Amino acid sequence: MPDSPTGDAGRYEVVVAGGGPAGAAAALTLARAGRTVLLADSGTGPPKLGQALPSAARVLLHDLGAGEQPLTAGHMTCYANLSSWGSTTLGRTDFINDPNGPGWHLDRKRFDRCLRQAARAAGAQVAERTIVRPRTRQPDGRWAVALRGPASQRLVQCDWLVDASGRSQAIASPHRAGRRRTDRLIATCLELAPAPTGRATETSSLVESTADGWWYTAPLPNGRRLVAYFTDADLAAPALRDAPGFLRLMRNTRHIAVRTHAHPAPAPVLPRRAPAHSSHLDQPTGEGWIAVGDAASAFDPISSQGILTALYTGMTGAAALHAHLDGDTGALDAYRTNVAALLAAYRRNHHAVYALEHRWHDRPFWQRRHATLAQHTTRKESA
Ligand SMILES: Cc1cc2nc3c(=O)[nH]c(=O)nc-3n(C[C@H](O)[C@H](O)[C@H](O)COP(=O)(O)OP(=O)(O)OC[C@H]3O[C@@H](n4cnc5c(N)ncnc54)[C@H](O)[C@@H]3O)c2cc1C
Repeated sequence: MPDSPTGDAGRYEVVVAGGGPAGAAAALTLARAGRTVLLADSGTGPPKLGQALPSAARVLLHDLGAGEQPLTAGHMTCYANLSSWGSTTLGRTDFINDPNGPGWHLDRKRFDRCLRQAARAAGAQVAERTIVRPRTRQPDGRWAVALRGPASQRLVQCDWLVDASGRSQAIASPHRAGRRRTDRLIATCLELAPAPTGRATETSSLVESTADGWWYTAPLPNGRRLVAYFTDADLAAPALRDAPGFLRLMRNTRHIAVRTHAHPAPAPVLPRRAPAHSSHLDQPTGEGWIAVGDAASAFDPISSQGILTALYTGMTGAAALHAHLDGDTGALDAYRTNVAALLAAYRRNHHAVYALEHRWHDRPFWQRRHATLAQHTTRKESA
């Protein structure tokens, strides 16, 4: 089942569940440190279209040892972000002065695949289209793990599990890790057809706030365009459920409507919904497991920090695990402290960004976000 050759009779020091940026970064770091690692990716979940990667990723990819390779082909350069937030004026953040250069509109499938290839090249075994299901933890602390691939199922053993399964938290959830969710944000996404040849379209991403949420649009590397509307699940208008209703609401915007004008409506297709709420685990480590990326802390996409944080926590979580296996008793504590600091910084920035919008202080979407940090209610989810 694994796409790279199997090791010694299915025994690994670490099995990484999930081959997004966090899992690939973790497997790459552990393999480079000499650990026996299996990275399995189910390849399930909603497609991740229209995502932007800030140029700081260049530094992280270098630190990871993945180099520029994941960014060399298939993506579009992102030279600026446009935003109408707090007023109807369209502001522009240009990357011209950024020491790392411009960012990217990613082809996420290609980016993730390239990172998994880097992990494979470093010595990790990589199993594509394979679901990880932990079965039992034996008295000696070793995990028995079921791997379900496209055509077969088998059992392997490992000492540690890395939960890099994104928002599904496939390892942490069944092991009763406390999960906290701070809002109910969802994204409703529609892919528009390519603009006719010769019609220039804006290549910057654009965010526009409205009374009950905010809109986002970005060009896709295949010439299409993604449009997404973000609001809370209980505030989503029924019209968003089908393409004509979605397009009608989209055309009521001031700037998004202009940027999307040249792109024809898609062939009949339903808008897709994806969870986009902020959530985190009480502790990103447990008995025999460690969580990285969205599995540890998932951020509101307005932050544009999701992929960067996934790469960073994948790398630092794996380095902490390697040090722990080498006998460093403080390594996992240091990782927990690090993740808590990231979360605190995210919350401060998140609050500051939403505080910039005053026009709809009587609308629930904005009222909820204008609550001070101290008033933020966190809802404990059942494990
Ligand atoms: C609508 C939306 C827009 C966003 N836009 C941006 C953006 O523009 N820029 C940005 O930086 N971030 C953005 N984000 C956030 C970004 O997508 C995430 O932060 C990032 O993908 C997290 O990476 P990850 O590796 O932790 O998880 P993921 O990318 O979710 O990867 C998890 C992987 O694990 C696999 N998996 C799940 N369960 C199992 C299992 N049991 N066994 C094996 N494999 C499993 C899944 O198939 C998936 O491939 C956005 C998020 C949303 C919802």
